[in-house]
Amino acid sequence: MYKQTGEDLFTLANVLSVVSVILSLVIGIGTWVLIGDIMGVIPFIVIAAIGCFAAWAINAILSGFGALVVTNIEMLDVAKETLKALNAQKTEIAPVQAATNAQESGSAEQTGEVQETGDLRYEGANLQARPKTVSDGMVACSMCGAQQKENRAVCFKCGVTFIK
Ligand SMILES: [Zn+2]
Repeated sequence: MYKQTGEDLFTLANVLSVVSVILSLVIGIGTWVLIGDIMGVIPFIVIAAIGCFAAWAINAILSGFGALVVTNIEMLDVAKETLKALNAQKTEIAPVQAATNAQESGSAEQTGEVQETGDLRYEGANLQARPKTVSDGMVACSMCGAQQKENRAVCFKCGVTFIK
């Protein structure tokens, strides 16, 4: 609609400049005929020149304005397309985000699921270590290797919880 307005201005500029040239020629010739003398060529040239200048001015002003309108509308269109693309992207990200959240909430940390690997065990987020017996009453931490009494609940060095 607005773009149409811009293009209408181009058409209007062309029509108006043609009309002003024709009008100046008609008035100029009319004046020349009225004077009925070779001297009549002077007002004819003056009027024709004014008509041509008016045509040029109308064209310059309206075309410039029309170009401005068209450019602005095109810029608006680009902005709208960009916004649309951004919104489309947002709606694409949203389900992925939801899936990620669901995955995270279903993780071992949330459910307290037990995962065991060798001497190490995760109970939810709690890391536990099975102490290795090294001699009578002494164990070695399976995390850091520090030797300590077997009755300890946590490693004195690294602080891991011992599995009993
Ligand atoms: Zn340790």
